[in-house]
Amino acid sequence: SKDNGKNRFTFCSLEMKHETLEKVKLTNSLYRALERDELALHYQPQIDIRSGKLVGLEALIRWTHPEHGIVSPGVFIPLAEQTGLINAIGEWVIATACRQGAYWHKRGLEGVRMAVNLSVEQFKSSSFSDRIESILLDTGMSPELLELEVTESIALDDSYDVVNTLEKLRESNIMVAIDDFGTEYSSLSRIKLLPADRIKIDRQFVESLAVDKRDRAVVRAIIELARNLDFKVIAEGVETEEQVEFLKSQNCDEIQGYYYCRPLPPEELEKSEIFNH
Ligand code: C2E
Ligand code: CA
Ligand code: CA
Ligand code: CA
Repeated sequence: SKDNGKNRFTFCSLEMKHETLEKVKLTNSLYRALERDELALHYQPQIDIRSGKLVGLEALIRWTHPEHGIVSPGVFIPLAEQTGLINAIGEWVIATACRQGAYWHKRGLEGVRMAVNLSVEQFKSSSFSDRIESILLDTGMSPELLELEVTESIALDDSYDVVNTLEKLRESNIMVAIDDFGTEYSSLSRIKLLPADRIKIDRQFVESLAVDKRDRAVVRAIIELARNLDFKVIAEGVETEEQVEFLKSQNCDEIQGYYYCRPLPPEELEKSEIFNH
């Protein structure tokens, strides 16, 4: 009836107000999170599928909110992007990951890459490559061991001159990985022009490898395409031995996922078997 519709509307707008208020509160506390040292990076191993050796680490941000506990980056990164806070956070992430990487390299973790996620907002800043250069100098991190992960949708977006920025980074010997690959409708002619070293097969395809014949076909095709275009390929979200075996049979280069290791804080990672292997 009409009445029900009206009630429902009132209910919805209250819900929305509540949600907006929560968002404002969360944004305010995110502003303080940086100063109060509530942000941390966890690191997830990337493994060479043939040798089983550690070849890379992906830095993943964590926020421990004083009241809410751990807030997922899936929640607060979009918020940081909307409010412009992502530039400060993004810079903190790169600097922290580089400092940690340089430290581990000195302590014997030779040749292991450090991968960092980037937001589109960071690309819009004209001083982005200069900032990276100065972080590398400050932290003593080797550019050849730094990898920047950009999502397929960012990499193929025309509006930010992304290709130019990526080319500049690669001229400084920094590596580029295309994250969440396969989730966008990119044309093959665009993909072949991507200034990238590596393609990361999105978790959604890896997830159902065992049950979905079509996902097996997609993964096979991505690996084949990557090889022909001279990209290395890593599969993310690998959780089972079955998935590992399939990816091995398709000559995927590297894997990352809970099967090997969850993202861990530095102290815990240093104690893990994979790290000391
Ligand atoms: P992403 O870059 O695609 O990261 C992969 C996500 O999958 C991470 O979630 C990781 O913890 C999770 N994961 C890894 N292995 C497995 C697995 O075997 N199974 C399952 N189910 N999940 C797995 P997380 O850490 O919650 O990060 C979510 C997203 O937040 C990331 O997706 C990335 O887009 C963004 N993000 C994280 N850290 C940063 C950062 O420092 N800067 C920016 N701009 N974005 C970040
Ligand atoms: Ca990533
Ligand atoms: Ca991804
Ligand atoms: Ca993702």
